[in-house]
Amino acid sequence: MTRDIAVVGGGLAGLLLARVLQERGIRVKVYEADASRTARSQGGMLDMHEDTGQTALRMAGLHDGFKGLIHEGGQAIRVLDQHGTVLLDRPDDGQGGRPEVRRGDLRDLLLNSLHPDTVQWGAKLATVTSLGGGRHALHFVNGSVVHADWVVGADGAWSKVRPIVSSSVPQYAGLTYVETWLSNADLNHGASARAAGRGAMFALAPGQGIFTHREPNDIVHAYIAMQRDAAWLEGLQKENPETVVSRMLAEFAGWAPELTHFMAGADGPPVIRPIYSLPLDHTWAPTPGITLIGDAAHLRPPAGDGANLAMLDAAELGHAIADQPDRMNEAVASFEARMFERSATAAQDGIEGMQALLGEDAPHSVLKFFFQP
Ligand SMILES: Cc1cc2nc3c(=O)[nH]c(=O)nc-3n(C[C@H](O)[C@H](O)[C@H](O)COP(=O)(O)OP(=O)(O)OC[C@H]3O[C@@H](n4cnc5c(N)ncnc54)[C@H](O)[C@@H]3O)c2cc1C
Repeated sequence: MTRDIAVVGGGLAGLLLARVLQERGIRVKVYEADASRTARSQGGMLDMHEDTGQTALRMAGLHDGFKGLIHEGGQAIRVLDQHGTVLLDRPDDGQGGRPEVRRGDLRDLLLNSLHPDTVQWGAKLATVTSLGGGRHALHFVNGSVVHADWVVGADGAWSKVRPIVSSSVPQYAGLTYVETWLSNADLNHGASARAAGRGAMFALAPGQGIFTHREPNDIVHAYIAMQRDAAWLEGLQKENPETVVSRMLAEFAGWAPELTHFMAGADGPPVIRPIYSLPLDHTWAPTPGITLIGDAAHLRPPAGDGANLAMLDAAELGHAIADQPDRMNEAVASFEARMFERSATAAQDGIEGMQALLGEDAPHSVLKFFFQP
């Protein structure tokens, strides 16, 4: 029997799952909290890894469309120390296997691939209750209720679907990113634009760093990363934007001016993004009629692969369901076992990568970890 699938969350995971299910002839509805597809800027660049994100796009029949979105030159990498000394300057030779795309372009590719009206916008889930027999009721903030044969929670870090299968709640990971941008970078911010290069740049020291990405429209997008405790974060969140900038500049005292300019000279107010994580071994017992994918299932500190893994979850789950529509509980349980194993391995790799980026031997540790054979 083919059942209707209700996907909560229209991020990359939820949309890619909907695409695969529709390609396989299965009815699906996506319930997304945002009021419309243009309600929120999607921001930022994502590198799509060959073995995860790109594999997912192939499984969804969208790899050719993806190739048209690639930001040529975006795989260039620079590593600097806090004085602006360049320790690594690797141009994009097109062989890196991780082409960069704008997150918003990727989301548009997915949205445009769906049947009209697949996504119900402005549908913010409040809670899920069990109706018995593997069926669930979705209760939305606007008071509406939908009964679903099958529910997939693709609703990200603060998933409202998760409590049905797991009591785990994301915890602050002791790492805060502050997001800033330089527009018209080459014209107006020459020294910082040169430091950033044409792709990604990592300026590193123990416990803190500046990560930048060049976007196609001459914007340099920066994450100022600081490993700090919860009390420090709470203090920062109480400050006004000017004081946030001056506090960050104090944290980065002695750094080269072309690097601190990513704070002092940024456009608009900085955005504080505390990093949260689920337990690294987060799992749940198979639960009839409901599952989670992406950040809802395995939120981790960013290691450059969260979106890639979320998309692979979605592609694998979509095909697993379509392959065994009469045995969905079994198909989903075996998918979950694969997802748990993959995300635990990725979490361990992520810890080691973050240690290389911001550990006590940074920036030299990152050269050894990522760039030496
Ligand atoms: C600073 C930072 C940098 C990152 N950089 C990278 C990177 O370079 N590469 C990479 O691969 N990953 C990166 N990640 C990780 C990546 O962003 C996530 O892993 C990825 O977005 C997860 O996709 P998702 O679809 O599971 O969740 P999300 O992208 O969070 O999508 C969830 C969707 O659900 C919707 N939603 C939420 N709550 C509800 C609700 N109650 N009802 C209905 N809808 C709801 C949201 O509006 C959203 O559209 C980064 C993360 C951070 C924080």
